[in-house]
Amino acid sequence: MKYMDLHIHLQDYPKDIAPEMVKKAINLGFKKFVCVGTSPKDWEKVSDITTQYPDFVTPAFGIHPWQVSSVESDWQQTMEKYLQKFPHSLVGEIGLDNLKPEIELQKQYFSFQVEIAKKYNRPIIIHAVKSFHLFENLWKTLPKKFMFHSFSSSVEQLQKIISHGGYVSFNQSVLKKSNFADIIKAAPENKILLESDGPYQSLNKGEFSTPLYIPELLEKIAFIKNCSQEELSEIIYNNSMEFINVG
Ligand SMILES: [Zn+2]
Repeated sequence: MKYMDLHIHLQDYPKDIAPEMVKKAINLGFKKFVCVGTSPKDWEKVSDITTQYPDFVTPAFGIHPWQVSSVESDWQQTMEKYLQKFPHSLVGEIGLDNLKPEIELQKQYFSFQVEIAKKYNRPIIIHAVKSFHLFENLWKTLPKKFMFHSFSSSVEQLQKIISHGGYVSFNQSVLKKSNFADIIKAAPENKILLESDGPYQSLNKGEFSTPLYIPELLEKIAFIKNCSQEELSEIIYNNSMEFINVG
C-alpha cells in the first residue's frame, strides 16, 4: 500500500532518529513526507532536509501561531525566498490558537501568510485550536487548497471545513476522542489526509510520534468506513497528491 505523511516536523527529531525512521517508512510504502516549518528559525533546516530527500520530502514554510511574538521583521522576504527556491513547497504551519496569547497578532500573521500563499498559488496547512469561530470572517479569503491539520473536534466543524472546500488531516490524536467514529463517518473519503505530526502528539507518553503509526490509523478509519484498507489507502494517496500538487 502507498502512504504519505502530510504533516511532520522532521527537523524536530533528535539528530540520529529521523534518517532511520524515514528509511523504515519508505520501505513500508511511504512516498512523501510534508516537512513543516514553524518559524524562520527552522526554515533552513527544512530546506536542508528537502535537499537531502529530494524525491520524498515536500517542504512547507510558515510561522506557527505559537511563534508570532519572536519573529524578525524581514520574515516575509525570507519566506518568499524559500517559496521561490522550492516551487513545489507549501505554506504552513500557520493558524490561530486561542489557548495561546497574542491572538490579534496571530490573526495578522495568519492573514499576511494567506496572502503570500495566494500570491504563489500554494496550498496552506492550518493549525486551529479553540479558534474555529474566528474563521467565520476568513473562509472567503483562504486559498483554493487548505487543510486543517490534526483535526479532532466536532462533526459540525468538519462539515463547515468541507463545505468551504477544505481538507481534514487526521493523526493519532483523533483516536482519543469519544466522537472518533462520528468524525470519521462525517468525513468524505476524498477530503481525508493523514499525518503523524511527529515528533509530537504520540499517544504514548515519552515516545515520539512517527509516520509508522499511519497504517494503523488507516486501518481504523477503513474499519469505520466499512471499506478495504487497499481501497482507502489508494483514495487517501490520491487526495494527498491532489493537495500537494502546486500549479
Ligand atoms: Zn505541527
